[in-house]
Amino acid sequence: QAKLNGRNTAHWFSQDISKQLSAKLLLRQELHDALEKQQLELYYQPILCANQQTVCSIESLIRWHHPTRGMVSPAEFIPLAEESGQIVAMGNWVLEQACHDITQMNKQRSKAISVAVNISPVQFIQPNFLQTVREIMQKTGVEPAHLELEITESVLMADEERAIDTIHTLDSMGIKVSLDDFGTGYSSLAYLRFLPVHKIKIDRSFVREIANSKRDNAILAGIIALAHQLDLTVVAEGVEVPVQAQLLREADCDLLQGFLYAKPQPLAQLRFDYYQR
Ligand code: C2E
Ligand code: MG
Ligand code: MG
Ligand code: MG
Repeated sequence: QAKLNGRNTAHWFSQDISKQLSAKLLLRQELHDALEKQQLELYYQPILCANQQTVCSIESLIRWHHPTRGMVSPAEFIPLAEESGQIVAMGNWVLEQACHDITQMNKQRSKAISVAVNISPVQFIQPNFLQTVREIMQKTGVEPAHLELEITESVLMADEERAIDTIHTLDSMGIKVSLDDFGTGYSSLAYLRFLPVHKIKIDRSFVREIANSKRDNAILAGIIALAHQLDLTVVAEGVEVPVQAQLLREADCDLLQGFLYAKPQPLAQLRFDYYQR
């Protein structure tokens, strides 16, 4: 065991930090090649209508097949890509791929579904973001009604008014916007007063506790009732066990997403019918 005193500690500490730093730099370099070397793939996770046996939409989630480290989690590389600005090219690739995939998929289906795409705040506040969205729509021929963009309240941090304008414009283009990770920020409820979004996605940290805590369950039911009063659709993330799904249905939640139904998976492996649990 290390002796925690004097110069040695400082030495180990700085060694540790510099190791972390160089690992980060390396990862950033490798990320640069990842797009061109086709190491990125979009996985899809089904989102079920709470009262049907069917998938109503799918969320696209990026995966990086790293040449030596295997699968690297987006929780690790998205923040890096945001710091370096690489998220813009990556995010555009994701959007185009998702629009392409949903268009092809809906050609083979009698009942169309929509695709939800996560948009980084860094990507969202680019001056040409809307232009890029229009170009990708034209290129892929995606129906705007089949496209949903997931943002978090942090898009408001840089320029609140412009962010709201952008959401309004997307709305007028027929594209729906969802507020992701709802319940994790500080003032999510207050934002609902003026954000022109269509959906909220209740964060899985919140869903996790509903079976154990009467208070959490009561808050959840309250949030859903309020959202409905505001004509918002509610999705619950991270549904892992049947009792959570049951409580969410009792609270009138509209859509359910989680490992109970399916993990994110490659496009070819997607199924569309689930026995409701
Ligand atoms: P998110 O948008 O909130 O996505 C939901 C995350 O919860 C996904 O993690 C999903 O795999 C995970 N999840 C879904 N159901 C369950 C469950 O029942 N249990 C548990 N434990 N987890 C569940 P993932 O794929 O690792 O993505 C993490 C985050 O990375 C996403 O959170 C999103 O913020 C970001 N991300 C992923 N793909 C993209 C992308 O294409 N662009 C951007 N900008 N961000 C992305
Ligand atoms: Mg999301
Ligand atoms: Mg989320
Ligand atoms: Mg999240």
